[in-house]
Amino acid sequence: MSRPRVTVVLSQAQGKNPTKRALEESVAAALILEPGLDVSIVPHLYDLDAEHTGRLFLESVTGDLVVLAWLYPRAAFWLLDRDGIKGHYGANQITPKEDEEEGEPGASATGGDHKGIGAVEVPDRWIYCLDLRDHADHRVYVDEVKRIAAECQARRAQKAGPSLVQLGVAGRPQPAFAPEQLLAQPGRRWYPVIDYSRCTNCMECLDFCLFGVYGVDGLERIFVENQDACKKGCPACSRVCPENAIMFPEHKTPGIAGAPAGGVSGLKIDLTKLFGGMDAIAVAAQERDAELVKDGRQAVGLSVGIPKRQAGKAQGPKDDLDRLMDELDGLEI
Ligand code: SF4
Ligand code: SF4
Repeated sequence: MSRPRVTVVLSQAQGKNPTKRALEESVAAALILEPGLDVSIVPHLYDLDAEHTGRLFLESVTGDLVVLAWLYPRAAFWLLDRDGIKGHYGANQITPKEDEEEGEPGASATGGDHKGIGAVEVPDRWIYCLDLRDHADHRVYVDEVKRIAAECQARRAQKAGPSLVQLGVAGRPQPAFAPEQLLAQPGRRWYPVIDYSRCTNCMECLDFCLFGVYGVDGLERIFVENQDACKKGCPACSRVCPENAIMFPEHKTPGIAGAPAGGVSGLKIDLTKLFGGMDAIAVAAQERDAELVKDGRQAVGLSVGIPKRQAGKAQGPKDDLDRLMDELDGLEI
């Protein structure tokens, strides 16, 4: 009886950084030799649009999936979810190098206490996202992927038994995709990614963005409807979201790019620099105005779509990221 295989997808870095390429190649070369794994390489995950072969390939994978990318795991997981590549969140056990040095355990990559509305239509499979920035040594990733593959096999064996495997539920063969099409380099994209483990569906981002990026789906849930309508480099709505649920995976500030709440020290420094003594909402309004003016429209300042979060936010339990944002609000900088 054949066992369901685990698909491993390595998402390349943007650009041609030789150090990054070397790490990608070492990881892929080692994993290809491992039994029970199907290894593929695609361009940078964030840049794959709906027509890209790499995206079609990812959509075709029905079993457990491991994605190695140059992205925070939380950002990679929720951007896949937005694109319909869904599964249960699989925690990886890699401790980033700097956390190891500081003696901190690896931080959780999802929203901590899970007060959000969560994902919908999640199939019975697991998706693990690993951040290739965590270590320079390829063996760390190879060992972790092997551990994950064993975890997936054990879970399947316990749950499914032979009948599901025979039905093809867990190990359906994937259609073939030509490597040169998989690796066709897409243009760079820029759009928000919502972490539904934190998002409470308050719709403040919908009110705030005046560029038609957000929409409401058939279940009355907020979603990023027109990804490519977002203004390149603009992270304004991430500052407005009362739950810190909006990420811009390529933003230089870890807190905006999807860093886990546990990475507090780096986050604190970056956010302090970023706000430069201004209230986050005021910064967001300025950023939005700049984009409006570039489009030949009138600046609106604080007069449109400014959230009522200070007044109306429910007092739920706070997690590390909320506490950090409160701390920042209180700083006189
Ligand atoms: S502002 Fe944040 S919490 Fe509210 S709907 Fe948008 S993403 Fe969700
Ligand atoms: S970053 Fe700016 S343009 Fe993009 S969705 Fe947010 S408010 Fe809209």
